[in-house]
Amino acid sequence: MNAATIAINIFIPLMFFLYGICIGSFLNVVIYRLPLEIPVYKGRSFCPKCNNSLHAVDLVPIFSFLFLKGKCRYCGDKISLRYPAFETLTGIMFLLCYLAYGLTWYTIVGCALMSILICIAMIDYDTMIVFDRWHFILLALAVCSYFAQKQIAGTVYPEITLLSRILGSVVVGGGLLILALVTGGVGLGDVKLMAVMGLILGLKLNIMAFFLAYIIAAICMLKPLITKKVKSKTEVPMVPFFAISCATAFLYGDRIISWYFNLF
Ligand SMILES: [Zn+2]
Repeated sequence: MNAATIAINIFIPLMFFLYGICIGSFLNVVIYRLPLEIPVYKGRSFCPKCNNSLHAVDLVPIFSFLFLKGKCRYCGDKISLRYPAFETLTGIMFLLCYLAYGLTWYTIVGCALMSILICIAMIDYDTMIVFDRWHFILLALAVCSYFAQKQIAGTVYPEITLLSRILGSVVVGGGLLILALVTGGVGLGDVKLMAVMGLILGLKLNIMAFFLAYIIAAICMLKPLITKKVKSKTEVPMVPFFAISCATAFLYGDRIISWYFNLF
């Protein structure tokens, strides 16, 4: 292997993964602090149990968790497995973006999208709240994605046109809004999320994301429903499922759609 292949096959993917882990560590802070209205940038990280400030050595993503054996250095309280799990997840998502779209601006847009989806999903899972500020950030990202996608659009990736984006937003967002008004089983947070995701994914991928979310939710809810842990009328936070399906659509949507239509 020459230097260029080593860089392309090993070094750059590894950098995306490590960078993702570091961003994931920051996302943990956002997910924890935002619902509690603690400023994200102010002050050092602290142990939620004993309030001791954490030092740099306690904050190395993943490694600190392993080194401290999952316990706070000061009070010995268990550190949730969530923290290293979401650091690793963010690293993997960044890597997948690179593997899907290479060293392009679209990959950067993808990494930002994955980060936001992880925050939205986890805050909704914890609190059932979707802050409106996320939709504005996603809106800005939709504008970036429109220009970045032109760089890679061509034979492999069909261009997501402006018309397709607007239709994706109106059709899926509008459809969910009607569902929300008629059945009441859909939250406005879901409507807004999928409306703005339409501007990023376009019509085809957003419709796919819509159906995929309900398929994943149905599979996940099957066991709790059968064992009667959840009643059929319990409100299920759908945003995490939309986040998973949107991330999947962004990375592999075109491939999944062509695989699906090749079945018939
Ligand atoms: Zn502590």
